[in-house]
Amino acid sequence: MAEARTELRSTAALRDTMSAYYKTLGDAVTTKSAPVAWCTSVGPAELLRALGFAVHFPENHAAMLGAGRTANKYLPVAHAQGYSQDICSYLTSDVGAYLAGESPLSAFGLTGVPRADVLVFNTNQCRDVRDWFEWYGRQWNAPVVGINSPRSVGDVTDAEVDDVTAQLEALVPVLESVAGVRLDGGRLAAAMKSAREASELWERCLHTAANKPSPFTFFDGTIHMGPAVVLRGAPEAAAYYHVLLAELEERVRGGVQAVPGETLRLYWDGMPVWGRLRALSTTFAEFHTAVVASTYCNSWIFSMLDPADPWRSMARASVELFIARSDGPKERYIERMVELYDVDGIVFHDCRTCPNNTNTRYGMPRRLSDKLGIPTLVLDGDVNDLRCFSDEQARTNIEGFVEQLSDARTHASRVTR
Ligand code: SF4
Repeated sequence: MAEARTELRSTAALRDTMSAYYKTLGDAVTTKSAPVAWCTSVGPAELLRALGFAVHFPENHAAMLGAGRTANKYLPVAHAQGYSQDICSYLTSDVGAYLAGESPLSAFGLTGVPRADVLVFNTNQCRDVRDWFEWYGRQWNAPVVGINSPRSVGDVTDAEVDDVTAQLEALVPVLESVAGVRLDGGRLAAAMKSAREASELWERCLHTAANKPSPFTFFDGTIHMGPAVVLRGAPEAAAYYHVLLAELEERVRGGVQAVPGETLRLYWDGMPVWGRLRALSTTFAEFHTAVVASTYCNSWIFSMLDPADPWRSMARASVELFIARSDGPKERYIERMVELYDVDGIVFHDCRTCPNNTNTRYGMPRRLSDKLGIPTLVLDGDVNDLRCFSDEQARTNIEGFVEQLSDARTHASRVTR
């Protein structure tokens, strides 16, 4: 019998915030109240907001297809267009849904994804986002512009930040001409201030999970991160995180556990398995195991954004992003998280179609396990393609991992007694 997880009251406010965002997007399309820009999840959203664009994030749309378990219906449609089964299943499910004329945004009154006036990518996360945007650019004859970022970055250098800064500044004339307005420095500073405030609040929400027991899990985070993603640079994101933070702090004071009977604590690295969030969350909870933190949810903390230095601080945020780094800085980051959240082990998701956000294939789990003295588990799966995920296999692996962790803990307590 599965243990019930404790749901957050803030989910109602989250739903309202996200619905209002989708409605604004729909209004921009139907009433032409604002030009529409598409933006990658860590693209220059603050700049687009300062220019008055309504901003659509296709990765959010693709995650909705995954979470709604409709992605697999659309994947073959894109594969038939020559887009490989081995490339990003966000891209292929989203393009397939467009060709099928269907979208979960219909629940919010939109007829489909909003038609873009311009598509703005940043390859700091992967090349797939550029290919994805270029597909739509060809469909609509819309301009596709962006930033070609350095990847596998070791220690961030000034030269790398200078390069991205120059690319960001070069976007301005193109975006001004699509928006039909000149960039206002005050509006850019305001968008940066909103983004920074929301980021700080989101970080504080995530850090509440360092408490024992944890009031919040990775699985909660994947849902409640919505405003941090789609409302970056808008004041509504911070407004929502004030609500969430208040509830999480109340939980900490009251000792409310996200996972009843929390015994073990884990860190998650890699993409979520959107179509199995609920199932995985229930399985871990059944074993009294709280997945308390993740690289994924942390990736929307942008502490370096500075309204007084918008261009270089946006560039630095782009270059310093976890996914854009080499294994050395990634491992140092995970080490800090293991210590901060005091976890018993690390789960690595080997995401079949996203090698970019998979850290299992060049020995990292073994190196971290040896260095930190804690076990690691590699779960095979995918972000959206559920053919790559086996419920039985995942459950067996999680059960074995929990046993291993419990044995290690029993042994440690015997030794220290
Ligand atoms: S990071 Fe991975 S999941 Fe995200 S768009 Fe790129 S390939 Fe797809």
